Amino acid sequence: MYTDTHCHLDAAEFGNTQADIVRDALAAGVNRIVVPSVARSNFDTVRKLCEQYTNCSPAYGIHPMYTDDAAPVDLDVMRDFLKQHQAVAIGEIGLDFFIPHYNQARQEHFFVGQLKLARDFDLPVLLHIRRAQDTILKHLRQIRVRGGIAHAFNGSRQQADEFIKLGFKLGFGGAMTYSRATRLRELAATLPPDSIVLETDAPDIPPDFLERGLPNEPKYLPRIAATLAELRALPLEDIARITSENVLSVLPKLKTPAAQ
Ligand code: ZN
Repeated sequence: MYTDTHCHLDAAEFGNTQADIVRDALAAGVNRIVVPSVARSNFDTVRKLCEQYTNCSPAYGIHPMYTDDAAPVDLDVMRDFLKQHQAVAIGEIGLDFFIPHYNQARQEHFFVGQLKLARDFDLPVLLHIRRAQDTILKHLRQIRVRGGIAHAFNGSRQQADEFIKLGFKLGFGGAMTYSRATRLRELAATLPPDSIVLETDAPDIPPDFLERGLPNEPKYLPRIAATLAELRALPLEDIARITSENVLSVLPKLKTPAAQ
């Protein structure tokens, strides 16, 4: 069995097909799905989806690319929300310095505020990081949270080691299925086995085997895992077992689905 540690099940691309997506995922052996939020406006949608589908677990957070539209009061709203509703993590939060017109100071303000929420509620965090690995690490050293997942990890080996030291797992998904992604594949092949978790980032980051134009889905996770198995020269069952153990150690509040 597999856990998709990052799926935007409420994304517009999925329309109203969530029941099919969850069913197809289960049929493929993906029995747990973590659903991160991106803004205050989708907290309730994510909460309701995760109530409806028992193998889906919610995370709440303001994504760095949504901070331009976020209001300072959103952090207080989030605190109240977390008091009332169970969450498996704070996320998706982080810094995105890839697209230059996003206000970096504003992103850092919301990132720091949400790290404090993660610390106060003793929750792990799901990190979105683009061109900001070292700035994120700096903040994580200042505000100690209980670890989490560096989603769609794409840093250096040295940065990976720093995240691991701070209690983080590194999320690998469709990007490593491309043979030209040599640096990423090298990392996937050589990082300590207990540091890796799997994700799709569905509907984004389509794996190389997906027909162009189709949305990514959690049901493709076992095929993504097969790439990891190949890179590490391990049987697929070992990859399934190891990554599942890693997920439970970093996201202890993950829902355990009823036996199918
Ligand atoms: Zn995401």
